[in-house]
Amino acid sequence: MNLMKQSEQNTESIMDKMHEHEQLVFCNDPATGLKAIIAIHSTTLGPALGGCRMRPYRTMDEALEDVLRLSKGMAYKCAAADVDFGGGKAVIIGDPLTDKTPAMFRAFGQFVESLNGRFYTGTDMGTSMDDFIHASKESNCIVGIPESFGGGGDSSIPTALGVIYGLKATNKVVFGTEDFSGKTFTIQGLGKVGFKVAEQLLEAGADLYVSDINEEAVAAIQERAKQLGSIARVISGNEVYSVVADVFVPCAFGGIINDETIEQLKVKAVVGSANNQLFLEKHGESLKQKEILYAPDYIVNAGGLIQVADELYGYNKERVLSKTRSIYTSLLEVYRQAELDDITTIQAANRLCEKRMEDRKRQNSFFTHAKRPKWDIRK
Ligand code: NAD
Repeated sequence: MNLMKQSEQNTESIMDKMHEHEQLVFCNDPATGLKAIIAIHSTTLGPALGGCRMRPYRTMDEALEDVLRLSKGMAYKCAAADVDFGGGKAVIIGDPLTDKTPAMFRAFGQFVESLNGRFYTGTDMGTSMDDFIHASKESNCIVGIPESFGGGGDSSIPTALGVIYGLKATNKVVFGTEDFSGKTFTIQGLGKVGFKVAEQLLEAGADLYVSDINEEAVAAIQERAKQLGSIARVISGNEVYSVVADVFVPCAFGGIINDETIEQLKVKAVVGSANNQLFLEKHGESLKQKEILYAPDYIVNAGGLIQVADELYGYNKERVLSKTRSIYTSLLEVYRQAELDDITTIQAANRLCEKRMEDRKRQNSFFTHAKRPKWDIRK
């Protein structure tokens, strides 16, 4: 009985989430083994944009939950970055290590193309630029491909730049200066984004604590610190939460701001690229109570999104970098609004996005093929 009730509740909550979405597409191609779901949360701001993730989901419900959550997240991220796109996402059900084939991605490209410009997609966890080169043979709605194919290339470069500008804005609010010299930053994760952030902070005269399970990345940042005459102290995985520093910079994975870690934190601010840093939204309130300023992740890490969105204007590097630098002013506005309304910074960011979507709803209806942007030069 309890189990039945539980499953009824789960079904209900998936149904609620489905009804928040504009469109759901289940893709099935027995010839290539493709099983995918495309979720379009909203096209209020423009055609939906969001990556395609490949994971060995155990059940269809698990895949559905993931794609619904992620596409809603993209709607907020696009609204926050002020790009003319709505929120969407796709998931392919399968093991990226063993199940991928070029034919599968061509089939996926055909499903994307069938949406007639309502959904643009590219890489995410478990998928690569190579996969989307195959998909782009079937669809004009593929982004995040290499420069040689007309794309913008490595999106971690603008993402890292966005984190740096998020750190500058936060430094300004917390310490009264944008200057990084003499400040201490704890960086969790020295991957594509974290390494670039660490390097730029070292170049600006900051001190670092760094942590990564990849020893090569740790050795490389220490070498870079030596070249620059600065220090990057290596700390263990657990120490990242308790070490005394000015700012914690999470660049590895989500959920790291939770009951357990907030207790330990001895920093003035949290600013990083990792997606979904708050385990629950209430942890934004716990940070506020501890007077730790939290930079909403989807505002700070929007540089990559800004780049893939720009591909549809005919990619221009300077335009991408300039728009990414404006993360500085967006973040200051969120901090100002949070202070004014005595709410958390994540609540302020969410409100800003919801207002942008509401305002646009009053101006036009949902996106249709007829409204396809004139600037889409690939058509
Ligand atoms: P990545 O996979 O290149 O780097 C992640 C790093 O974290 C790796 O070096 C990994 O070894 C390290 N790591 C894993 N477990 C760890 C642990 N327990 N402790 C310390 N380090 C650990 O990923 P990335 O592209 O640099 O992205 C980092 C984060 O930023 C992710 O959450 C990603 O979703 C988010 N993000 C990235 C982009 C982008 O453009 N790449 C854009 C938006 C958001």
